[in-house]
Amino acid sequence: MSTLPHVLGLRCRECGARYPEAPQYVCDECFGPLEVEYDYDYIRAHVTRERIASGPWNLWRYADLLPVAADKAVGIPSGFTPLLRADRLGRALGLKHLYIKNDTVNPTYSFKDRVVSMAISKAVEFGFDTIGCASTGNLANSVAAHAARAGIRAFVFIPSDLEWAKINASLVYGPTLVAVDGTYDDVNRLCAMLADEYGWAFVNVNVRPYYSEGGKTLGYEVAEQLGWRAPDHVVVPMASGSVLTKITKGLDEFKKLGLIDNRPTRVSGAQAAGCSPIVNAFVQGKSHAEPVKPNTIAKSLAIGSPADAPYALRIFRETGGAAEVATDDEVIEGICLLAETEGIFAETAGGVTIAVLKKLAQSGRIAPDEVTVAYVTGNGLKTSIVLEGRLAEGLHIKPTLRSFEAALSERQERQAA
Ligand SMILES: *Cc1c(COP(=O)(O)O)cnc(C)c1O
Ligand SMILES: [Zn+2]
Repeated sequence: MSTLPHVLGLRCRECGARYPEAPQYVCDECFGPLEVEYDYDYIRAHVTRERIASGPWNLWRYADLLPVAADKAVGIPSGFTPLLRADRLGRALGLKHLYIKNDTVNPTYSFKDRVVSMAISKAVEFGFDTIGCASTGNLANSVAAHAARAGIRAFVFIPSDLEWAKINASLVYGPTLVAVDGTYDDVNRLCAMLADEYGWAFVNVNVRPYYSEGGKTLGYEVAEQLGWRAPDHVVVPMASGSVLTKITKGLDEFKKLGLIDNRPTRVSGAQAAGCSPIVNAFVQGKSHAEPVKPNTIAKSLAIGSPADAPYALRIFRETGGAAEVATDDEVIEGICLLAETEGIFAETAGGVTIAVLKKLAQSGRIAPDEVTVAYVTGNGLKTSIVLEGRLAEGLHIKPTLRSFEAALSERQERQAA
């Protein structure tokens, strides 16, 4: 079905069996997950830094390495978000070359716009008229928005205990939102059945091989924005583990294609202590994760049965990276530390990343000289409920000079006490 000269088809990540392009995600031979396979010789002969740099200011500048043609793209142009030098945060943590990849400023304020861009474009190309997802919150926002702009029907499925800000940030685009009494893993199982039953494209189920490729652009962008070089160390939040594996794949592809030097990148992963199946397996030296029942304020990362765990675990081993957890209190401290030092308001997943970055730096698992990139993947306005009662309150005054001065000196006295 592929008309793209650089795409060969789908290939099983476990047994290597090959399939033509289709809305299929499991291998018929071994039930392993399928992945898009590319013709790297073809890509090497066509792609250059100049060709990429002259592309649009969004993720479609990397269309030569993606499974969708730029002129078939539907939804909202996403990506090419800022990579910021974080000198003040770096000084606080003892890191000399720290950067934040600020993916809070995507169209629906999380990195999910990248993966949805791939999935919805491919779903329309396959002829689907309805798109759906199993979501921990951000994915539902993104699917609803991109479907609205593409003019197709959306059904978004979420666990019923999500933050109201994330529920409204889906409903506003007019999808059918389905709140399910259960965990994300329950929602995901239901959606696998619905995909078969109704013949809809579920972005992270039956078109998952295309969906996940969108995560590679977070690797490409960082390399291009660093002046065409790989970082020495990246810290990535993990739910299913997919985006961590795809950032790694993106950097590896740039190295393989000669777009950047073959400098190694250590890849480290971050999870919330209340949902850390991948980190648990890493600490125990296992190659597979045992499922857990999530209990954390980092709801966007609350996947108890992470599909990409074995691949993430292999990446930590092969790159010399680490994996660490953050407690709920550390998540809130991480959100505040990033906000106070760099002016970036991240959601709970960003708090997880910054808290883990801090632990890795303080324990020497990130060296002070490493060029380090922390991925901040979602916006704090959607989870600001977790900060209630946790921030220094503002002053409340009458509209007079006296009232202001009284309130200010009262506050200064309180701080001195
Ligand atoms: C979904 C999500 C992630 C991680 O997703 P993976 O399933 O590991 O690819 C990270 N941060 C935010 C804010 C998310 O919404
Ligand atoms: Zn297989």
